[in-house]
Amino acid sequence: MLRDRFDRVRQRIQRACQRSGRDPSCVTLLCVTKGVASDLIRQAVSLGAGHVGENRVPEAMRKRHELGKLSVRWHLIGHLQRNKAAHAVELFDAIHSVDSLALVQALERLAAESPRRIDVFIQINISGEATKTGCRPQEAHTLVEAVAASGHLRLAGLMTMAPFSTDPEGARPVFRHLRRLADELQTSLRLSQRLQLSMGMSQDFEVAIEEGADIVRIGTAIFGQTIPR
Ligand SMILES: *Cc1c(COP(=O)(O)O)cnc(C)c1O
Repeated sequence: MLRDRFDRVRQRIQRACQRSGRDPSCVTLLCVTKGVASDLIRQAVSLGAGHVGENRVPEAMRKRHELGKLSVRWHLIGHLQRNKAAHAVELFDAIHSVDSLALVQALERLAAESPRRIDVFIQINISGEATKTGCRPQEAHTLVEAVAASGHLRLAGLMTMAPFSTDPEGARPVFRHLRRLADELQTSLRLSQRLQLSMGMSQDFEVAIEEGADIVRIGTAIFGQTIPR
């Protein structure tokens, strides 16, 4: 049942916060709804989901159309091609997958023509896996600086994905690295606001919370197995 799985995830988030001395209200649960049918998304929202994450622009467009007005924030978590950036700016409140200067510039131009303010996370490929998108840690400074200096994008923070592992502990060094990188950027760029960390999925979100995650992106643990893509 959706309700049971959702409650269980929320309890696990609370317990992970207690273990690490964090306030549970400071950790945002982003419900990842890729491959999940619109009526199930509606149910999740009625159970209290306030944030949903999609990884593809066309799928998100279809669902937003099907769902109409829904009091929820929409996040893009999948790779964004520049030719879909205009749709992304219309559809999403936050984009977690910004990983190139060209994309920052394209989003800034589009956002300048829109009344909406988009939250931007720079995605970092910490593990260096070739299959993963995201910029290299060495590029983070340039990209974060560009978003901070842009007039129409809101710098939200950094995002990463840990390599797949059956042991959640395997993700800890990756999450720790992201947090350290955020601390360094905070200092070197003299940022006034704190960079949020978007990290942790079904497999490893408790470890991510222990390592300072502000937003955990959880799909399977809430919705069960979805259509593979
Ligand atoms: C699918 C996905 C998630 C959620 O993964 P689960 O294992 O289903 O919790 C989180 N982040 C990104 C970028 C994803 O593509």
